[in-house]
Amino acid sequence: MKRGMAVIFAAVLCLLVGCAPEEKTAQRDLFSMDTVMSLQVWGEDAQPAMDAMETEIRRLDEAWSVGNDKSAVSTLNRGEALTDSEQLELIARVQALSVRTGGAFDPQLFALTSLWGFPTKEYRVPTDAEITAAMEEHAWDLGAAVKGYAAQRAADVLKDYSVTHAVLSLGGNVQTYGTKPDGSAWQIAIRDPAGEGYAAVAAVEGTASVVTSGSYQRFFEEDGITYHHILDPKTGRPADSGLLSVTVICRDGLTADALSTALFVMGLERGADFWRESDDFEAVFILTSGEIFATEGVSLSGCSFEVIRREK
Ligand code: AMP
Ligand code: MG
Repeated sequence: MKRGMAVIFAAVLCLLVGCAPEEKTAQRDLFSMDTVMSLQVWGEDAQPAMDAMETEIRRLDEAWSVGNDKSAVSTLNRGEALTDSEQLELIARVQALSVRTGGAFDPQLFALTSLWGFPTKEYRVPTDAEITAAMEEHAWDLGAAVKGYAAQRAADVLKDYSVTHAVLSLGGNVQTYGTKPDGSAWQIAIRDPAGEGYAAVAAVEGTASVVTSGSYQRFFEEDGITYHHILDPKTGRPADSGLLSVTVICRDGLTADALSTALFVMGLERGADFWRESDDFEAVFILTSGEIFATEGVSLSGCSFEVIRREK
């Protein structure tokens, strides 16, 4: 009887995921980059591929953590030069993304984020004079981009293994690899930024990065006012752009992560115009009013929303 039940359960499971009976799978949760990550892989090499991805993510955490004296950002913040070509390339890419977004994504806000207490979680509201002084400093903090880069690198690692599909969740970053096991599009839930559960579901084909930046992800309250972790580089204060979250869907993880932060700072109007000038991403905006806007390339379900079109 017990064996019969097990067979039925296995059959139902395979029906649900549409997997071949012999396909191996691996699932792993880990804590890295100050967030909980959940990795799921299908394929002959699922287990070794999982090990390789974890090694890569931990390597990048060490290399880019502001809390690690030996990291590349700590090296730069001591005024020393980097020599590693991968690190130099990443710095060049984030600088280019900063220019592309008109500085809305600014990878040199460490003095400001520290002043507000976000890296240490010792939060406080700084004075105007402290904010002005910190805005003059240019210390590196890649917290807005490195998880997307790591998700992309982890997906790249999979190319060396016999892996058919994977879905990786690194905090607010989701990275897909290949199609879903049943060949259909991945259905990626976008969290309801104002409550529990999901606000919408985005259908994503093949390998892509789906990255959400939201004020709900890290914040503190003082005197009844909520202060969140995405800072407007022009004011030195939490961005007040009328948004609760922005989700970016892009073929490149680093770009997706940097742009989700930048679009949150820009807000809907500027963000929509920025999308019109671009051709490498789609986006979903959730406003403080609860309204949802999606660029016309997003396949969104589970909510009512307005479409942002190329033609105004
Ligand atoms: P994300 O969750 O990807 O939007 O990144 C937010 C994190 O990036 C914050 O916790 C800060 O460490 C840092 N950050 C805050 N505001 C900005 C900004 N405008 N540009 C770049 N990094 C930022
Ligand atoms: Mg980001």
